[in-house]
Amino acid sequence: MLRIGIDLGGTKIEGIVLDADGRVLARRRVPAPRDDYAATIRAIAQLVEGLERDLGRRGTLGVGTPGAISPATGLVKNANSVWLNGRPLADDLERRLGRPIRVANDANCFTLSEARDGAAAGARVVFGVIVGTGTGGGLVVDGRAWTGPNAIAGEWGHNPLPWPRDGEWPGPSCYCRKTGCIETFLSGPGLSRDHRQATGQALDATEIAARAAQADPACEATLRRYEERMARALASVLNVLDPDVIVLGGGLSKLLRLYDAVPRLWGPHVFSDRVDTRLVPPAHGDASGVRGAAWLWAPGEGGRPNQ
Ligand SMILES: [Zn+2]
Repeated sequence: MLRIGIDLGGTKIEGIVLDADGRVLARRRVPAPRDDYAATIRAIAQLVEGLERDLGRRGTLGVGTPGAISPATGLVKNANSVWLNGRPLADDLERRLGRPIRVANDANCFTLSEARDGAAAGARVVFGVIVGTGTGGGLVVDGRAWTGPNAIAGEWGHNPLPWPRDGEWPGPSCYCRKTGCIETFLSGPGLSRDHRQATGQALDATEIAARAAQADPACEATLRRYEERMARALASVLNVLDPDVIVLGGGLSKLLRLYDAVPRLWGPHVFSDRVDTRLVPPAHGDASGVRGAAWLWAPGEGGRPNQ
C-alpha cells in the first residue's frame, strides 16, 4: 500500500508518496491558499488526486496541520493559519477523498519522522521543535507521537519566555491573545521583529543570518539574543521532560551555529549538574514534516480507520 503524506504549511502544501520501505516515489508542492478554508480543502484534495494519478494507485493518507484536531469537538484548534480554526478539516477531507484520514499536528509529524529514521533514530524520548513561521513542538516516546488528552503535548511555543530580562516582559502580543509567548521571540517573524526593534532595520531571518555571517555587529547581536532566548526556552523543556534528543526543524533550523551555541547557554537554567541531551539538526530537512505525515500509517496498514 502506498503511503501519502501531506504537510499543510503556512505558505505551501507539500505532498509525498512513500513505498513500504520509506522510499520517496513522488513529491509535489503547491502554494497554500491564505484566509480561505474551502480553497485549502480543494488544494489538498487536488494534490492527493494528482499524486495518485501519477502513480496509478490509491494510498493511505496522513495530514500534518498547524494546530491540532480537538479530541472533544473534531474541529481544528490552535492553528496559526487561523482560518483553519473551528473547521472540521479531517471530516471534510475524508468526505472529499473517500477514505479514513489521520491528521496530526505538523510538529508531531516532524518529530515522528526524525524519531523513526532520522536524526533521533533510536532515542526513547524525542522533543521536536519547529522554528519557522511559528514555533511548534512535538513529542515522541518510544517511536509513537504522544499527543495527550487535550492534543497539546509539546506546545511550548505559547508558554511565556522563561527567566525574562528587561524589555522582554510583558513582551510582544501573540495571535493566541497572550503576550510574551516563546513563539513571539523564536519564530522567524519574531526574530525579524526583535531586530527591527533593536536597530530600526527591517530584515527577515535569512537576511539577518547572512549579514551576521559577514560579521555585521547588529545582526550578530540579534542572533546572540536569539540563541540565549532559545537556550532559556529549551531549558524549561529539559526540566520537565528530560528528553534524550531535541531536534530542530523549520527555516531557522538551518542556522548551524544554534547546535553549538544553544547547548553552551542552557546549562545554568537546567536543574542538573550536567546535561547530556543532544540538540541536533533534522536528518530529512524540510521533508521531515511531510514524511512524518505519511508515517502516521505504518507499512502494512491499509485503509482501516485507527486511533
Ligand atoms: Zn501565543
